[in-house]
Parts: sequence; C-alpha cells; structure tokens
Amino acid sequence: MTEKRDYYEVLSVSRESSADDIRKAYRQAALKNHPDRNPGDAEADARFKEATEAYSVLSDNDKRAQYDRFGHAGMNGFDFGNAGVGDILSQFQDMFADFFGGFGGAQGGQRRRSSGRGQDVRVHATISLADSMLGGKHEVVIDGEVPCDTCTGSGAKPGTKPETCPQCRGTGQVTAQRGFIMFSSACARCRGTGSYIATPCETCRGRGAVDRQRKVLVSFPPGIDTGHRLRVPGQGMPGRAAGPGDLYVDVEIAPDERFERHGDDLASRVDISFSGAALGTEVEVELPDGTNVTAAIGAGTQPSSVVTVRGKGMPRLERGGRGDLHLVVSVSVPKKLSKHAKKLLQELEVELGKDGSERASG
Ligand SMILES: [Zn+2]
Ligand SMILES: [Zn+2]
Repeated sequence: MTEKRDYYEVLSVSRESSADDIRKAYRQAALKNHPDRNPGDAEADARFKEATEAYSVLSDNDKRAQYDRFGHAGMNGFDFGNAGVGDILSQFQDMFADFFGGFGGAQGGQRRRSSGRGQDVRVHATISLADSMLGGKHEVVIDGEVPCDTCTGSGAKPGTKPETCPQCRGTGQVTAQRGFIMFSSACARCRGTGSYIATPCETCRGRGAVDRQRKVLVSFPPGIDTGHRLRVPGQGMPGRAAGPGDLYVDVEIAPDERFERHGDDLASRVDISFSGAALGTEVEVELPDGTNVTAAIGAGTQPSSVVTVRGKGMPRLERGGRGDLHLVVSVSVPKKLSKHAKKLLQELEVELGKDGSERASG
C-alpha cells in the first residue's frame, strides 16, 4: 500500500478544526472533484475518494478520536481501499442531498446513482421520412417511474419525514471495536442509507416513486437520421438528491415506399415514356415533405441513367442546406400498340436504321 496522506492535510484543515469547518472543507473538495463533474478524470476521482475517506473519519467523533490517537494505524478495519465511490457515497446520501439540493430524501433501492441524480433513460423512436424531412415535435412514450405525487417523492407519509437512523446516527455504517481494531459494516437497520422512513407513504409504500407510462414531447430536428441519438435533459428517472436523469432517444427512420435515403441525399425512380426519353421531357416528383420538384430529362436519356437535382434532398443536420435528389430514370416500353402507333414505330425503325450512330449502343 502506498503512503497515506494525513486526513487533516487532505481536507486542508487544522487538527483543531470544528466539525463544521471539516464539513465545509469536504463540501468544497467533493463538489470540485465529484465524478459527475469530472467524467473520466482518474485524478479527480482519486482526490474525491481520498477526501471522502478523510471526511468519513473526521466527521465521526469516535473515529476522529481514534485517528487522532493512533493515526492511520487506528483505522485498520475500515476497508476503504476496495470501496467504490458509489459504496462510499451511499453513506453520504443525506449530505449530498444537502449539497446538491433537489428531490427530497426518498428511501431508494439499487437504482440511484452515485450522486443521487435520477437514472438516464433510453428509448427507441421510429419516425417517417416525411417527419425527418420536416422536423418537428413528436410524443415519445416512456415506461417507468415518476415521483409519487402523494409524498412528492420523499417516500414518507405526508406530514412526516425520513428520519436519521438512530442505529448509525445517519452514517449508514456501524463500527465494532476489538482492541485497537475497528470493524465497520453497513448498518443493518437502514441498509446503509443512514435514514429510514418510520411511516411510509401509502401510495408508493415508501419508494418515493410510482410506475407510470408518460409521454414526452421530443423535438426532432429536420434531417435527423437512423442511428442518431437525441438527448432530452431532465426527462429521465426522478432523482433522490440531484434532480432527474436525462432521456436519450435512439432514432430510427421508417423505410419509405418511394424514396431511399443515402445520408443527406434522396433517391427515387421516375418512369418516362420511350419517346420522352428520346425527345427529352419534364417530370414532376412529390417529395416526402409534400413539396413538388420539376426535373428536366434531357433528350436521349438512357434507361437507368441518373438525373440529379441539387439541393432537393434531405435537410443537412449540422451544415445547413440540403442534400441532392437523384432520380433513376426508368423507360417504359408500351406493351400494346394501336395500329397507327405500330405504323409510326415501324417508320421510326426504318428512319433510325438509316444511320446506326443514332441508335443507343448500351
Ligand atoms: Zn409516496
Ligand atoms: Zn443506520
């Protein structure tokens, strides 16, 4: 094990500091280095754990006295080394509730996050190509918990409050001493939460939340595509101490009958007549958003050739503007011919035969 820093030094307080000073010092260190504020920062995480460990000892009169007399040696048995931040934090829920403000002190289960913030929720939403092109708000249905109305999420019957656990005096930990060695374990009475609900709310039976389907109006920006994820802040699960989590919507665009999407571009097929292909023509295409585009088909257009109309594809999500519209030309050959039409085509065949170069090679 590496050399441990002095707990007073960790919190930058003197050995004579009052409980209040220690609390303030820890609050400062915890807020600065909190994992939620420093995602992926291992150093901040280490400082946070170190400060939390120091506070867990110095905020407890018995432990502090033990530490003052015997130093770190007196702390054997507090197995901080292997404890995750979440484990350590679970002992400090109430304090964090004070620090971060928020949702009340519901008696929760495994669901809460280290900071007491509600869980993030992920849902899947399928919208049509037209909706993607237009953008707009659509309801997304979420199954899950909402704060209990009766107790406003506290879990305690209206008029009562969660009480500090008398067994562990709110620390969530109980210690037993054998000689100089202190053994510490999660308080059985409050299951390590530090508080308990004497008279649970009858609606939610103390959970602080009830299961309910809810609808959230989510804004889909024009051009959103399959695989994109939208974040809706504050629409996740209710939180105990630091507000609700976020809602993440995984977007899928339903296949469209007429259009294929390739990134910002749209592709569709247009049917033109044999003579239209030869002489040139115009086609009108209705886009998914209901607008019409007229595309010029040049004389001598070959079957399966692609006519591109710039700027008539999907809206570009970040760069602005729009992608292109690609029209794959399909030349329809009449199956039945009138006598007159047959005669005209036979004449045409003769005419075209005079100069083979006018005939399409492909
Ligand atoms: Zn309730
Ligand atoms: Zn307890």
